[in-house]
Amino acid sequence: MSARDVIHNLRELAARTSNAGGAQRVAWGPVWREARAWLDGTVGELGLGAAADAAGNRWITLPGDSPRTVVIGGHLDSVPNGGWLDGPLGVLTGLEALRRYRDKPRPVTLAVADFADEEGARFSRSLLGSSGASGSLIPDTARHLVDRDGVRLVDALAENGIDLERMPEAREALLARDPRAYLELHIEQGPVLESMDKPAGVVIGAYGVERHVLRFTGQAAHSGSTPIAMRRDAFLAAAEAALAFREIARRHSTPEVGMVCTVGQVAVEPGIVTAVPGVCEISLDQRAIAPDILARALADAREAANRAARNNGVSVEWRHVWRIEPSRFDPRLVELCAEAAREVTGHAPRLPSGPLHDAVEMNRLMPAVMMFASSSRGLSHCREEDTPEPQLEQAIEAFLRLVDRTVALVAAE
Ligand SMILES: [Zn+2]
Repeated sequence: MSARDVIHNLRELAARTSNAGGAQRVAWGPVWREARAWLDGTVGELGLGAAADAAGNRWITLPGDSPRTVVIGGHLDSVPNGGWLDGPLGVLTGLEALRRYRDKPRPVTLAVADFADEEGARFSRSLLGSSGASGSLIPDTARHLVDRDGVRLVDALAENGIDLERMPEAREALLARDPRAYLELHIEQGPVLESMDKPAGVVIGAYGVERHVLRFTGQAAHSGSTPIAMRRDAFLAAAEAALAFREIARRHSTPEVGMVCTVGQVAVEPGIVTAVPGVCEISLDQRAIAPDILARALADAREAANRAARNNGVSVEWRHVWRIEPSRFDPRLVELCAEAAREVTGHAPRLPSGPLHDAVEMNRLMPAVMMFASSSRGLSHCREEDTPEPQLEQAIEAFLRLVDRTVALVAAE
């Protein structure tokens, strides 16, 4: 088995769990269960077995001389009409690591985790399984969730033998494993590595997120009878603010430390062609890897929104939606990851992750790092998601070197 075999397995899983629209391994559903059953078969061929934890994650363990454990993670679940690499790349490369260590001396234990419901595609709660395992999941915040068809999360979980209330118990079970390092290979899902013509990158951490809804309130009025100077146009205030947010992101971005601001939603009232908008609501999603930059960018955005409101004679109210702290991966593991990437590909570009990953949850419990494989055209969460095979092979090989280096590091602890 080699990187090529990992790719072969990825293609086989995709063939079994995709249709013309793409991958359909949505967590807690029948296709996802089929994917896991296929994984069980593959694990069985290695002479190993998979066991579930209280949060619905599956663990494949290869015991070593010491119980100290290097954990390798990923997720088999996908979004509807998803791609073939987002998630399974981590799990199946982890399995290849186990195969390589199966027949040789192992100073430490290795474990592969297939985290449940990383995507949150059905119930809008990402990182569900890994947050159960890290202990950050608060059942109260998920108990009310329903999918588009009105099915409750708790019932979908029960169908899979999982009790939401008991999911956080997975933390104790994980800590009992004596976990010392967490490694994850994932596709970048963005265009940065491809634009640099690099097959693999070292992930230094994940962006924190500040998410708000801003409601601008002016006065609806007739579009023909109201002179421009006498309008209180809520949309124009929102538009002025949105342009200012772009400048804020530019101002706080450096080549090493990116920062992004996105206005992804806009709704105007009354929303007819003959009326000046009296109300305009926009979303603001701000992301940065440095906590101080995220905080400054938020303060700047408040100031800019107030200015835009004043300029247009309207008022603005902020509603907080969601936030998560930026996370920084372990400096020692980041170095090992860079060494491994450089050894195989000749380069070790460092970049933050814009999307969240299970590694962010695991980073709460143990030193963690991720490696990214480049994404063709930066596309993901769609059937076009791809990485050219030569680049994918290099990334897999580089990651397996990272596993070797981490095993040596943990053995020496
Ligand atoms: Zn993923």
